[in-house]
Amino acid sequence: MDQIRIQGLRIYARHGVYEEERKLGQSFYVDARLDMDLRAAGERDDLDFSADYGAVCKKIVEVMTGEDFRLIEAAAHRTAQEVLLSFPAVQSITLTLHKPQAPIALPFEDVAVRIKRGWHTAYVASGSNLGDREAFLRMGIDGLNAHPLCRVEQVAPVYETTPYGGVEQGEFLNTVMKVRTLLEPDQLLRLLQETENSAGRERKVHWGPRTLDLDLLLYDDRILETPRLIVPHPDMENRDFVLKPLSDLAPGLVHPVSGQTILGLLRRLEKNGELHVKSM
Ligand code: AMP
Repeated sequence: MDQIRIQGLRIYARHGVYEEERKLGQSFYVDARLDMDLRAAGERDDLDFSADYGAVCKKIVEVMTGEDFRLIEAAAHRTAQEVLLSFPAVQSITLTLHKPQAPIALPFEDVAVRIKRGWHTAYVASGSNLGDREAFLRMGIDGLNAHPLCRVEQVAPVYETTPYGGVEQGEFLNTVMKVRTLLEPDQLLRLLQETENSAGRERKVHWGPRTLDLDLLLYDDRILETPRLIVPHPDMENRDFVLKPLSDLAPGLVHPVSGQTILGLLRRLEKNGELHVKSM
């Protein structure tokens, strides 16, 4: 990917564990590598398609001087996050924070932390079959958008579907959201569960009726298996009410376990499987 590089930005700030450091301050130096697509900016000769490196430097200084952190790890983390939030064209940032006057009682040249932070793409399935179903789907979108590190970029059409899993219950509305996020998968799962809870979700019957069900389908092309979280969602290949809206957003996306495209998985299910979407 293309890059913009900033080298040796000097900032006088007060990060440190010791009181002296917080009182007196010292010089820090920042190197930043911004990964982003610069083709459109290059072809059009237009700054609107890039990130203004002067403005990026100002933002770095603003974060580094706006709050005093004990650790350079924390200062670097917050600075990287704020750059990503303020300059959406930046896909990821590698930030090196140098502290050459750190309180080390030995001769040394420099001490630094280097971190990489970036946007992730997640697909979240959303379903409701109790009460005002459309309002609950809307609460799902709003709940994710309300988090500062999450943005719902696209929402697929909503499909009415017959229930799945053999429990007698009302029909569902289902859709899928494309989410751009700085959250890690376990943090995103927690946000999904909090959003379900605030929509009044009660877990009484497995596969039973629910005001709002949010499932993490895909997170970049990662494969994860922990006691709390399995990604890709283990049952997505068998659910046309997931594959159909997902294929509206990303038909050519490759499922990282099966190696098949979303449209390919949907076609296979349409041929062989039990179908739940009422109106295709
Ligand atoms: P459900 O009642 O169908 O929403 O299932 C929720 C449970 O599944 C929770 O205990 C989660 O920890 C677990 N789980 C595992 N993988 C996922 C996933 N990809 N998305 C949502 N929940 C998951």
